[in-house]
Amino acid sequence: MYRSHNCGELRSKHIGNEVVLAGWIQRSRVMSGQIFVDLRDRYGITQLSFFEAENADTFAQAKKLGREFVIQVTGKVVERQSKNSNLPTGDIEVVVSKLTLLNASKTPPFTIETDTDGGEELRMTHRYLDLRRQPLQSALKLRHQVSMAVRKYLSEQDFLEIETPYLIKSTPEGARDFVVPSRMHQGHFYALPQSPQTFKQLLMVSGYDKYFQIVRCFRDEDLRADRQPEFTQIDCEMAFVEQEDILNTFEGLTKHILKTVVNVDIKGDFPRMSYEEAMTKYGIDKPDIRFGMTLTEITELAQNKGFQVFDQAEYVGGIVVEGGAEMSRKEIDKLIDYVKRPQIGVKGLVWVKCNDPIKSSVDKFFDAEQLNAWKSTMNANDGDLILIIADETDRARKALGELRLYLGNERGLRNPQDFAPLWVVDFPLLEKDEESERWHAMHHPFTSPKPEDVALLKTDPGKVRANAYDLVLNGNEIGGGSIRIHNRELQSTMFDLLGFSKEEAEAQFGFLMNAFEYGAPPHGGIAFGFDRLVAILGGQENIRNFIAFPKNNAGRDLMIDAPAVIDDAQMTELGITST
Ligand code: ASP
Repeated sequence: MYRSHNCGELRSKHIGNEVVLAGWIQRSRVMSGQIFVDLRDRYGITQLSFFEAENADTFAQAKKLGREFVIQVTGKVVERQSKNSNLPTGDIEVVVSKLTLLNASKTPPFTIETDTDGGEELRMTHRYLDLRRQPLQSALKLRHQVSMAVRKYLSEQDFLEIETPYLIKSTPEGARDFVVPSRMHQGHFYALPQSPQTFKQLLMVSGYDKYFQIVRCFRDEDLRADRQPEFTQIDCEMAFVEQEDILNTFEGLTKHILKTVVNVDIKGDFPRMSYEEAMTKYGIDKPDIRFGMTLTEITELAQNKGFQVFDQAEYVGGIVVEGGAEMSRKEIDKLIDYVKRPQIGVKGLVWVKCNDPIKSSVDKFFDAEQLNAWKSTMNANDGDLILIIADETDRARKALGELRLYLGNERGLRNPQDFAPLWVVDFPLLEKDEESERWHAMHHPFTSPKPEDVALLKTDPGKVRANAYDLVLNGNEIGGGSIRIHNRELQSTMFDLLGFSKEEAEAQFGFLMNAFEYGAPPHGGIAFGFDRLVAILGGQENIRNFIAFPKNNAGRDLMIDAPAVIDDAQMTELGITST
């Protein structure tokens, strides 16, 4: 028996017991005649003590121990002289009578404690050491709890977890595919799935009317902060359902997860908002509704008063910062710099301080009466600050939306312990790529248009709304899905619109369209971003902390050093010629 207890287990009630523990040395403090060691495993830390007077041999052995040595000890649980209330085991310590060194350790390159001195790169290179740290251990435990909650809930609702293949053929979901060369069929490639989309639809055709899978997906996207080339989805699909059924089922799942994992009760139905409303009021398709500060348009009110910037803009609108009139010139300048950054890219910010008298950065053009008219249209109160942006509609709204989130963070309005879920519905089916002038599916090409909008497909495709929905939590898209097309003809019209020739559509999606001809039931589904969901439940933004072995921001695994070149022999075997 390696251990009778783990390092997080012993309490006062164990005082007097003889125990065996095993673990890693987090720290040791050598004093004259006495050594204290913090012994760690994933359950916690227990203090060990060695007394020279009682056991000189063990004491001498303990003196040689370094950080991260793995040891096994036998000893007696005693009450601690100075108790440590920060530690669950802080009332006791173990006086060691026998010490076995299980393995030595080199001095680790960074401290393996809750707060570490190691930089990101160093920790990623030694991920196995970083993973010993308590915050990462709780993160992975949380991840496990979420996956168990998902499996339990869906399984109780009759969902079956079914695996789909990883070696497939490209599916266009908006990103590039990772490809895998085939040795047996030289010059041919598999693609790794961006999602199991077509397979889960085929499972519906096969009659498995409730499917889910916690599944890895692969997307070769340009790297953005906190994107992983491989990530995990909770992928779900149901047959014989309408949008309403899907929203209800997965609202139930989300509530169950929040309740079982973080003990949060969401009362009542999740609010729903149309895409249009989200863009108009929040300037973003994934609004954080934990706080107000919504956008108000004042284009008409603000134009034709001689201020060129407003007169020439397609949109003039703003947000109200409660109590913000107190902000200093310097603080407001910081906001102006924020919106002028290239990522946001508007030219400036007009401000109005709702003091008495009302004051603005455009006093030259607008008198108090006009400023007060804005104030009342925007529902601002005395002491508030109004911030206004004028630009093209999309850009101005987006900028205001970003500014709103920035201020929400600055002013502590985004408490990670609050959970505010929201369905965003009625997305447009298509969006136009300005450069190529081509239509793109906003969700993916299998998404069904709203039946009442189908006629518009031929006349005004941009106006067609989709039976598509996103689940948003605290300003993050945590899930997205749609009701699918299940009819060959409509699917083929869709490919047509997206610019696929008949041959291309047939070559890429013949299998799906053929399947639709053998009694495909109406169906729809959703996929949750599992890593992101877990991170939010853990109150953090960074998904990397919730993945055991993530890639860094450049898409590399620094520990195993991937991606890497392969040797010529392997290339030749795969039929790939090196240049
Ligand atoms: N396959 C979709 C995605 O990965 C989700 C869905 O439509 O179910 O976004």
